[in-house]
Amino acid sequence: MNQEIDHLRGKIREVDERVLKLIKHRLDLAQKIGNLKKSHHLPITDTSVEKQVIDHALSVCKTLGLDERLAERLINLLMAESVKIQGKSIAGRSSYLYEIFEMAEELESKGAKIVRMDAGEPDFTLSDPVKNIAKSAIDTKGLTSYVSSRGLSDLREAIADNLNADFGVDIQPNQVLITPGGKYAVFAGILASLSPLDRAVVPAPCWPVYEECVMLANGRTDYIHTTLEDEWAIDTQKIKDAFDAGAKLLILNNPCNPTGKIMSEENLREIVSLAAQKNVLILSDEVYSAYAFKNFKSILQVHDNKFICTNSFSKKFGMTGWRIGYVVADSETISKIHKILQVSVTCVPGFIQKAALAALKSAEKNILKKEIKNRVEHACKELNRLPISYFKPEGAMYIFPEVKIKNFNSHDFAKKLLIKERVAVSPGVAFGNYPGYIRLAVTTSLANIDEGIKRMGNLIKSSS
Ligand code: PLP
Repeated sequence: MNQEIDHLRGKIREVDERVLKLIKHRLDLAQKIGNLKKSHHLPITDTSVEKQVIDHALSVCKTLGLDERLAERLINLLMAESVKIQGKSIAGRSSYLYEIFEMAEELESKGAKIVRMDAGEPDFTLSDPVKNIAKSAIDTKGLTSYVSSRGLSDLREAIADNLNADFGVDIQPNQVLITPGGKYAVFAGILASLSPLDRAVVPAPCWPVYEECVMLANGRTDYIHTTLEDEWAIDTQKIKDAFDAGAKLLILNNPCNPTGKIMSEENLREIVSLAAQKNVLILSDEVYSAYAFKNFKSILQVHDNKFICTNSFSKKFGMTGWRIGYVVADSETISKIHKILQVSVTCVPGFIQKAALAALKSAEKNILKKEIKNRVEHACKELNRLPISYFKPEGAMYIFPEVKIKNFNSHDFAKKLLIKERVAVSPGVAFGNYPGYIRLAVTTSLANIDEGIKRMGNLIKSSS
């Protein structure tokens, strides 16, 4: 008996050896393909080829009687390793944002006056009456101890009421969870949606944090490249191809950081319908929905399947450091996200939630929207004097121009601009394969915006 088991174990080791040799052979082939792609300037990933690989593997599975989900996961792992070998990962791009942010902070700490157009941090804060409510909440019994990990019921009710009034929908408070910032809402949403090796599709340029969250969930990101020439519209055929190749999650950012694009209702509905056909979950990050300067449709209005919608008090009310946001989702998904909140953060402090509730009930948001829109328009007028092309933002608080000078490198330019001209902007390379672009945040006064763009113009002139 023992001898037979030992014999079979020995056979398994032989099989493992053969499998590993085959994997090595596969990676060597992938490397050769990668070299050829590089020399012919071809993109590293091609969803239609990946779909063929998956389809082929699934048909082999059928013949062998092997579990299809297992095969899909193994093939996804092999493809992810091949992509890695070919050098595609853009993970870690948020470090480009932090680099400029930290350099600017350090210069300021030494007394330098910097025009800050880098971080997406509004320059306004809560009004005094709202702050006073927050201060008294600290003295209120029960608001400095543990509270429900779902969030305070009065805040969740107010959020649901606001969304229902703004979008004409019927969100129930039990579909809302309070999170420590919009970033955590995105992270928990992604973690709840992906199993290891699952793929998430993300239109680029985009906030770099999405890919990094997908990596923490051990998933893989497939980017859909969008262009300035197409006014940053998302090609639905590319989305369809990515869904056909087995994507499990689509991450949208609407209005978009960094482009300021608002998806047209037609584009959004088409994508939602494709996702429903393929049972792909959509996570729509709508942290900039308060700054929509044209008709904006929320995922809450158009979804017809499972969905996740994330939002935040950071941008709308200038509450970045308070760390409070929320997630809205269908009831099955909300339970998964709730579990993640329960075991990771326990709860957002009650007194912070009371401040958010007071902000929500104040009328501040429309004044701020007018102010941000005015700044965007003003900045665009000033930018028209420079050798750049840009899409006039329809929302959010950024402009993402392409700088039309030879050999422009956004990373070098952003550092030089900060050191020489004392202006902080974010390099386009932080948002994907957009090294010719920079992102300007209109999170400072009109006078600062004028000055920042003027100095940027000086550097462009001296570099061209
Ligand atoms: N989503 C996008 C697209 C963002 O740009 C940001 C912040 O810059 C966030 C989410 C998260 O913001 P917070 O965590 O401060 O709510």
